[in-house]
This record gives sequence, structure tokens and C-alpha cells, in this order.
Amino acid sequence: MSDNLNLRLTSEQDTAKLALALVQGFGAGLVFLIGDLGAGKTTLTRYWLQALGHQGAVKSPTYTLVEPYNIDNRPIYHFDLYRLQDPYELELMGIRDYLEQDNSLLIVEWPSKGEGILPAADLTLKIICEDDIRQVEVSGERTVLQRIEGSFYAN
Ligand code: ADP
Ligand code: MG
Repeated sequence: MSDNLNLRLTSEQDTAKLALALVQGFGAGLVFLIGDLGAGKTTLTRYWLQALGHQGAVKSPTYTLVEPYNIDNRPIYHFDLYRLQDPYELELMGIRDYLEQDNSLLIVEWPSKGEGILPAADLTLKIICEDDIRQVEVSGERTVLQRIEGSFYAN
């Protein structure tokens, strides 16, 4: 069952809170981050990786398309498909192997560029930024959304 959760972020601190709630509410799977340039997709990913325990830099994979991480022995991949020419390139990159890895977390910016190759997401976050206020629409399994919502307001 799919549902929606709407959150309002008024500061980067709120974005950090959302990242923590995502760690607490969502485990492994495929995540789509949708939003214009500057919406805050990479920033959210940075806080997410840090909340998972990553120390050190989080580079935007604008040119490399994917940046791999290993956090507590878990494979985590941050994709930015903005510059993907053709969804088929994802096949050549071995996206299937990434998806099939046990317990892997894939966070994908610009998933629309991979349409036709990328499977459906387990969790989708749509970020709309207006006057520095970010509205985030989270969709996914109801129980996951409930956990994310609970953690967000508790943090
Ligand atoms: P995208 O990856 O969607 O293109 P970025 O994360 O690279 O966007 O850029 C977002 C910019 O907005 C950053 O400079 C960040 O510091 C700024 N920003 C301001 N407030 C927020 C917020 N609440 N959440 C995320 N980014 C924010
Ligand atoms: Mg980005």
C-alpha cells in the first residue's frame, strides 16, 4: 500500500532531522530524489550518509554518475543521473548488480533520466523549494512513512 507524507523544511537543520528520520524509518532499497537543481537533493543525501555514520566528504556524483560508500559493511550508492545520456548506460554500469546486493541502499537524484531501466522505487521524495522553504512529499509503504513521520517530529 502506498501513501504520502508531507513535510515542511524551513532550515538545513530540518533537512538534517529528515535525514535522521530516514535512517530510523527506512532500511534498504531504492530511493528516488526528485526536484529542481538546488532543491536540496545532494544536501539531504549528505546528511543521510552522515546520519548513517559516514565520516568525511560526500561528493556530488554529477560527473561520475555514482559514488559508492561502505558504511558498517553496507553497500550504499549515491547516483546523480543528470548527465546520463541514455538509460541503457545504467545497464552498462551494472545497475542490476547494485540493486541485487543484500541490504544495499541506492539513493538516486534525477531518476527520470533512468526511466525504463530503473525499477520502481521503494521510497520517493519530491522536494519543492519556494522562498527557501522546502516542501517534501514522501511516498512509499505506509508503515515506513509512519515511522519516518514519527521520527521526524520526535527529533
Ligand atoms: P540539488 O542536489 O537538489 O541540486 P543541492 O543540495 O546541491 O541541490 O543544493 C541545495 C542548496 O540549498 C545548498 O547550497 C544548500 O546549502 C542550500 N539549502 C538551504 N536550505 C536548505 C535546506 N533546508 N535543505 C537543503 N539545502 C538547503
Ligand atoms: Mg544534486
